Amino acid sequence: MTYKTRFGEWPILAKIITISIISVAFAASVILLFLMPIIESSMIDGEKKAVKNVVDVAWTMLRDYDNQAKNGQRTLEDAKEKVALRIAKMRYGQNEYLWINDTRPVMVMHPMQPELNGTNLNDYKDTNGKYMFREFVAKCRADGSGFVRYMWPKPGELKPVEKISYVRLFQPWGWIIGSGIYIDDVRKDVGRFRLYVVICSMIFAMMTIVLAVVIGNGITRPLKKVINGLRDISRGTGMTDLSKRIAITSMDEIGMLSAEFNGLMESINSMSIFKKVIEEDSSLEDVYRRLGDLFTEDLGIDRCLIYRIDDKNAIQLVYPTDFDQEDPFCSRDILEHGDLCKARRTGHIISSTAFRSICLEFIPQRRLVHYCLPAVVGGNTAAVIQLLFDKPGSPEGVTAMQAKVFKAEQYLNESLSVIETKRLMGYLRDTALSDPLTGLHNRRYLSEYAEKIVAGILRRDKAVGLVMCDLDYFKQVNDTYGHNAGDAVLKETANAIKRSVREADIVIRFGGEELLVLLLDIKEGETMKVAEKIRLAVEQLKVKIPEGVIQKTISLGISEFPTDATTFWSCIKFSDVALYRAKEEGRNRCVRFTPDMWTEDQV
Ligand code: GH3
Ligand code: MG
Ligand code: MG
Repeated sequence: MTYKTRFGEWPILAKIITISIISVAFAASVILLFLMPIIESSMIDGEKKAVKNVVDVAWTMLRDYDNQAKNGQRTLEDAKEKVALRIAKMRYGQNEYLWINDTRPVMVMHPMQPELNGTNLNDYKDTNGKYMFREFVAKCRADGSGFVRYMWPKPGELKPVEKISYVRLFQPWGWIIGSGIYIDDVRKDVGRFRLYVVICSMIFAMMTIVLAVVIGNGITRPLKKVINGLRDISRGTGMTDLSKRIAITSMDEIGMLSAEFNGLMESINSMSIFKKVIEEDSSLEDVYRRLGDLFTEDLGIDRCLIYRIDDKNAIQLVYPTDFDQEDPFCSRDILEHGDLCKARRTGHIISSTAFRSICLEFIPQRRLVHYCLPAVVGGNTAAVIQLLFDKPGSPEGVTAMQAKVFKAEQYLNESLSVIETKRLMGYLRDTALSDPLTGLHNRRYLSEYAEKIVAGILRRDKAVGLVMCDLDYFKQVNDTYGHNAGDAVLKETANAIKRSVREADIVIRFGGEELLVLLLDIKEGETMKVAEKIRLAVEQLKVKIPEGVIQKTISLGISEFPTDATTFWSCIKFSDVALYRAKEEGRNRCVRFTPDMWTEDQV
């Protein structure tokens, strides 16, 4: 344990305990140093008042007896003797008594030390050297009465102790009547009181410290959990238990902190689970579908549309999959020209909450607010997520909407790396399965997808038309104009064929200059028509090369699956057989495969 010298570096618990000890100590010192002397002096004042009362009562008795003597009820001598006797017997408190001396000063009556009676005490001094009898007289002569402080032994004791006495002159007889309190009796009471204060302060201090520890722990224990949890996350040890939660034991700031922390853990946890799930998804479409479902179903966003942007900058709506294209939220033009989409173009969030008609492609709808979030990966916008809300009617509604958008942004950010990897993988896959010269699918693509294509055809109970194409006397092009010219002819031919078939049909570079066309879901007999269309397109194709223009013809062999054979690969073979026949018959023609072209011994 290292000692922290600055208060700011102390742990909270130490601070709370220190503060409570300081306040208890302060309260106790105020009581002991400031209040106690006041209490002590007021206790002495009280005692002094009592003494004065007693002396005043005795003085009244002197006056009564003096009156009796004046009235002739008794003689002066008798009055003096009787009243002295009565006063000698008066007692109050523990040790308190009254005495009488006169102004000479001779002791008239002392109930405790009668040996002093008749003695002149003018030269009597106490242990501090005070001539207190002279002072009694002086005080009484000056003011008629007063208090005098001196040393005098308690009754039955020898050692003089501090005493305060009240003396009062009875003028007619020249007598001074006095009585006093012993200071240490008062001090004893004060001392007892002081002890109570100390004991109470200690009990109070202990209780305060216990309370401070309990409260301090109540604060620091959840705080430590929050700190450890956050440390785990920020250091990313990989062992982080994201399902960790803090028990909420109070509804104060600590309870609120714990709840917020739990909420944070909850969202990090669900986000990391979501990320794992989409990482394992097979295609980018699945990822977008999951994001869309999450936004609408879990985050409660009113509507969500996801537009995917391909490398040719075309935009395609991928979520929701069953979206009614007749009723779009954005102008249809963006599908053709990706740059029209403002979020795609700028890479920023585009929201109509910032400015009403911020995006001119968004078809204005009075009761609808849009947020378009671009998914920017590797400097390109891979997709645009459009979140649509019914216009909120209250500030609370706006806050709730913004919170949903914030959450959606977080999930989207978390998904970006997955989107990027999936996109890259898709791109690599496309390259591996396509031919760089013509941009057509390659033979590997056919091997990989043949099974899927066949399964789809059989399920839909449809047919595939197979057209095997081979340029006529292609070698001559290479030989006459060189390989580059050959490449150009091949490329243009591939494009011409693609233009002649539907988007859904598949064109494959099957061999050197042999191209295979798969016409999906074709009606029986239709293949021949398409083949003829291809033949005509190639015949009319003029390929420009530096030396001039090349025009070539093409021969085509046709078969149909499953009409001609039960296996797909046999049908491919049959189209090739038909192509051979086309070449034989003079080229630049389409030949439909017939079973007589094929005998078993040709295998
Ligand atoms: P025909 O088919 O009419 O019998 O005559 P052909 O001259 O076209 O003969 P064949 O189909 O056997 O010739 C194929 C030629 O195509 C051989 C090769 O030099 C050429 N070839 C194959 N692939 C390429 C390519 O990628 N680029 C170029 N420039 N030529 C290619
Ligand atoms: Mg050829
Ligand atoms: Mg060939």
